[in-house]
Amino acid sequence: MGMPPLASGPHGPDSLPPLLDTVLDALRTGTAARGGGPLPAGGPDAVAARTADAAGEILPDRSDPDALRVLVTALAAGAADPAHPLCAAHLHGPPLAVAAAADLAASILNPSLDSWDQAPAASALEALVTRALARETGATDALVTTGGTESNQLAVLLAREAHGAGLRLIHGANAHHSLPRAAWLLGLPEPVTVATPAGTLDPAALDEALALTPGPHLVAATAGTTDAGLIDPLPEIADRCTTHGARLHIDAAYGAGLLFSERHRAKLAGLEAAHTVALDLHKLGWQPIAAGLLTVKDADDLTVLHQRAHYLSADDDTDAGLPDLLGRSPRTSRRPDILKIAVTLKTLGRTGLGALVDTVCARARDLAALVDGHPGFTLHAPPTISTVLFRPAHATDDTVAAVRRALLTTGRAVLGRARADGRLWLKATLLNPHTRPDDLAALLTHVEGHLPR
Ligand SMILES: *Cc1c(COP(=O)(O)O)cnc(C)c1O
Repeated sequence: MGMPPLASGPHGPDSLPPLLDTVLDALRTGTAARGGGPLPAGGPDAVAARTADAAGEILPDRSDPDALRVLVTALAAGAADPAHPLCAAHLHGPPLAVAAAADLAASILNPSLDSWDQAPAASALEALVTRALARETGATDALVTTGGTESNQLAVLLAREAHGAGLRLIHGANAHHSLPRAAWLLGLPEPVTVATPAGTLDPAALDEALALTPGPHLVAATAGTTDAGLIDPLPEIADRCTTHGARLHIDAAYGAGLLFSERHRAKLAGLEAAHTVALDLHKLGWQPIAAGLLTVKDADDLTVLHQRAHYLSADDDTDAGLPDLLGRSPRTSRRPDILKIAVTLKTLGRTGLGALVDTVCARARDLAALVDGHPGFTLHAPPTISTVLFRPAHATDDTVAAVRRALLTTGRAVLGRARADGRLWLKATLLNPHTRPDDLAALLTHVEGHLPR
């Protein structure tokens, strides 16, 4: 093998087409080899063995020109494919083709968002898109993150810097695990967990927690819980925060996509009251991972992230007008995730994105109706966003868990699990706008077929 070609530069566009052909063929072959299901059959040991077999020697002495084809085929054959209608466990969505194409350009051009001289246009585009998306949530600025986890960490960090290391995080039992973890990571006192027996943060219980816990406080509410897609009562929570002088973060990693929909956006009333909002466009936004944002109401809050490194942001360079980007993230090298986001927003427009949101929410209502009308299943509750919790009627929790694992092992359907009302439920998170009502009926048939006799 001679000198391997580069992706960018004058020869990039000539060296890429044969490689892309190989990739696309391997995706076809691998997907077909999976055998029509959303997941490879056989469970972890079988998949690991097949993957090891395909991978062979990882760092051979000599070049292996077939590596791209072999490994992409193996990954597709062994994928949990979110584009399959029965892949519905997590907030793990199928990326739009146009977003993946834009992400390819990002990989090829490889701008790094830690200094202007590595990303001149990409940094300018990021500034435009983050401000536009911030305005959607009633904020003034936004940081690009790797997702809800990093957004939540940054929200807790900004709150700690504003209020001191004695800051107490108060969150519902329905909050994402990354919030208490952020408090731990940042050395804050043990957070206060408010029970959420109805699945959402009760304003009266929050009020009591605020009154009983010495401040300063950061309240974290959720718009789109991971388990059930529920939205905390945001306006009432915002009122309690104002009364007690608490700072408010809203984790809308899942729910924020409702903003694109005329029909559903009113469910997010109160979002604009938050100091910070987490939103993930790799959920209701159909982006390849990662596409997270943290919007910030008061852009001055971001000054605490200011950082100097003489090799990336020298004072005299900044004074001479080179944008200083280090304060836009705790990371240094950073991918231009903003390109795929910008391409998607502009290609689909508000109407196109809103239609995708409306479609997946409608599919969730369809599934809920099917479950509700089926004597063999129990529906937990009508869906708020696109998550449906259901269980085989009269099954024990152990049976519910076993059915889920049996579906994973045969590779016929990927469902999640959630605990609510003291019981274990199967969770369908519908993020695929191409899923049809027929697919949902097939999903229930698969669950029935995997019940122990
Ligand atoms: C998905 C999710 C997160 C975590 O986001 P990542 O993108 O996986 O880091 C945080 N909060 C909520 C409510 C989520 O649904």
